[in-house]
Amino acid sequence: MAQLSPILKQATPITVSHAEGLVVVGEDGRRYLDFTAGIGVTSTGHCHPRVVRAIADQAGKLIHGQYVTVKHRPLLTLCDRLEQVLPAHLRSLFFVNSGSEAMEAALRLVRQATGRPNVIVFHGGFHGRTVGAASMTTSSTRFRTGYAPLMGGVHIAPFPHAYRYGWDEAEATRFALQELDFLLATVSSPDDTAALVLEPVLGEGGFVPANTAFLRGLRERADRHGFLLVADEVQTGVGRTGRFWGHQHFDARPDVLVAAKGLTSGLPLSFIAAPEALMGKALPGSQGGTYGGNAVACAAAIATLDVIEDEGLVGNAAFQGRRLADGLRRIAADNDVIGDVRGLGLMLGCEFATPEGEPDPAAALRVQQEALGRGLLLQIGGPWRNVLRMLPALVVTDQQVDEALQIISDAVKTAQSTDNRPQPPRPDR
Ligand code: PMP
Repeated sequence: MAQLSPILKQATPITVSHAEGLVVVGEDGRRYLDFTAGIGVTSTGHCHPRVVRAIADQAGKLIHGQYVTVKHRPLLTLCDRLEQVLPAHLRSLFFVNSGSEAMEAALRLVRQATGRPNVIVFHGGFHGRTVGAASMTTSSTRFRTGYAPLMGGVHIAPFPHAYRYGWDEAEATRFALQELDFLLATVSSPDDTAALVLEPVLGEGGFVPANTAFLRGLRERADRHGFLLVADEVQTGVGRTGRFWGHQHFDARPDVLVAAKGLTSGLPLSFIAAPEALMGKALPGSQGGTYGGNAVACAAAIATLDVIEDEGLVGNAAFQGRRLADGLRRIAADNDVIGDVRGLGLMLGCEFATPEGEPDPAAALRVQQEALGRGLLLQIGGPWRNVLRMLPALVVTDQQVDEALQIISDAVKTAQSTDNRPQPPRPDR
């Protein structure tokens, strides 16, 4: 009998039967509160009735229209709809299917538009698993190992990881920008550099937000040297951080914006957005894909954007994100295993560390497992896999946040009491 690959079999013991809102139900009837939103995908919750209806209606009219050769109405309506939420200078759109594919499209565009070979990425970034995107990914060796040789022309600069460096944000930012200048002077000359590529909040890298001074520094260098700034908003976009786009927290102006995940509430669709003059420099034939701009996925995206607006979900993400962050900080203050709580909106992470500040992946795993046993789905990330990531659907309610906080608090207590490794003496804090 054919079976799932061993990599997938390990992933989780749950076989899902159905889901609604934030509630996922296993085939055994067990109910789970989903604080992963399928890695930030189900922005309006699982199976929002308006999204389901839009998908069903569209499926009865047209499923596939290869949009490189034909246009269709959902695609045009989606462009109009996105115009209302995109920064005014980013009006030219190109659709593909996944985050990785969109990052490949952005990479191709910046190289073709500038005629320069190199891109600079930032330590801890995740941009996907296809070869170009994996080459730009530095959030863990897991995404690169065994895949060499990766694509050339990618150089890595530091991200302002204030907590991990043990510095304040200003120091970490100064260091990161100075190192970028070193890189530009010693390794990737500005004349060879097509773009800087970053996530406004590192996703797989452990939910570390960038900051305004850092993004201003990047913009200033991009303008001075004529390279482009690419914002990978695959995870931070579409309301997730409590603003429509993550970069908007930091007064930033990207030249290329990449979006996917929360855009459709679950169907495969992604896009790159750029000024028309820039997008016009893409070479004919070099961009595209059979399924890009699929009509049903476009209909799901239109319905998702409508629900986000009508239900005030960006505001809800900011509001519930504050409640969740406050609760997590209270839990962190009460124990010695959570070293840092950080993030923006409903993209929040708890970094587990020893009292000496060393990454503690075992503690993160114990808490994740304890939470799962209590019916809460959480995800782990970060280079050392020691960050518990919370990214519930944007429709999350007061009661669901409170339920999750109670479970996390209990899970941390149990995980601590079952940790029977030899404990170092606790320093006074
Ligand atoms: N960029 C970011 C910031 C992501 O979080 C992801 C997915 N985790 C990707 C790109 C790749 O997206 P996909 O899995 O759809 O290829």
